[in-house]
Amino acid sequence: MIQFLDLKGINAQYREELILAVTDVIDSGWYIQGSQVNAFEQEFADYCGTKHGIGVANGLDALILILRAYKALGKLKEGDEVIVPANTYIASILAITENRLKPILVEPNEHTYNLDPSLIEQAITPNTKAILAVHLYGQLADMPAINTIAQKHNLLVIEDAAQAHGAQIDGRKAGNWSDAAGFSFYPGKNLGALGDAGAVTTHDDQLAQTLRALGNYGSHKKYENLYQGINSRLDEIQAALLRVKLKHLDTETKRRQQIATMYIEGIKNDAIVLPLTRTASPLTRTDHVWHLFVIRTPHREKLQTYLAGQGIQTLIHYPIAPHQQQAYKQWSNQNLPITQAIHQQVLSLPISPTMTDQQVHAVCQSLNHFTDA
Ligand SMILES: *Cc1c(COP(=O)(O)O)cnc(C)c1O
Repeated sequence: MIQFLDLKGINAQYREELILAVTDVIDSGWYIQGSQVNAFEQEFADYCGTKHGIGVANGLDALILILRAYKALGKLKEGDEVIVPANTYIASILAITENRLKPILVEPNEHTYNLDPSLIEQAITPNTKAILAVHLYGQLADMPAINTIAQKHNLLVIEDAAQAHGAQIDGRKAGNWSDAAGFSFYPGKNLGALGDAGAVTTHDDQLAQTLRALGNYGSHKKYENLYQGINSRLDEIQAALLRVKLKHLDTETKRRQQIATMYIEGIKNDAIVLPLTRTASPLTRTDHVWHLFVIRTPHREKLQTYLAGQGIQTLIHYPIAPHQQQAYKQWSNQNLPITQAIHQQVLSLPISPTMTDQQVHAVCQSLNHFTDA
């Protein structure tokens, strides 16, 4: 059986280090907002190349709190429009509607699955105040083009970097391309905790301060409340575990990249479309971190069943587009043909950094022998 993602195997590699990290926290007697969180926040900000890193409870909260902080600072207000890719994971959209802002769903490029800069400008109205760019599947959106458009129209740019820890364009990493970025450390993400966790990165002192207060009861100083905040904090135990995992992130990313290269070179079947890794300019260097390796085929159901029969586990990211979810039934008649086609055809291949070359070749062989007849 070739598992889609062998989380147990991934974490088993660091078992001793993880146990030591947890033991330190247990013995410290300090479990919320202490030295582990402080250290991780600095290490993660340094990794991304930003001034601030702020730990929060999960990735959705990271995005919710960024938008909420901009509202507290008077840069966004209820009803403002936020441009977001129509094919994103539902959490990006939930963060917008949770703040009573209005998501404007824009179609992605059908090859990269990320926002199509050429479609952004026509979606901008006088009410548009921000672009929430998502680095879907582990590849940065075309941030140079997105930032140019944002500058021209005076829009905030926010990254949903939940799937893109360490992804780069020309050496500049996810989290460092915008006014603020939200990260998730959900266990299955490229940098995964052993429970829920998330972070915000930013260069902006004022945003960092406001966001910290909002995630801590709205309090900037103990027992003094500036805002009607929430409780969304990163635990000391998760921070300690993440410090161990962060040290190994680049090694795991390299393995993901090797696996992706083997797939790209080894899969030869006209019924299967491989992912494209590029930005608008062929001169820029894009480092995809392959959170997911997503292929497309009009015969998805048949292919998934066939692979399951060969002991190869695959998943679908995602089966239902946000505008077709019950939760957003008021958008069900929006015309988003590229997004719809993507949701009907995508299939994610196994991408565990623990996969052996032999397993990767076995997946390629199975795919090459698949026929839609
Ligand atoms: C996982 C994910 C989130 C949410 O992160 P959680 O930690 O699960 O709340 C947000 N956006 C994207 C694109 C994600 O993949």
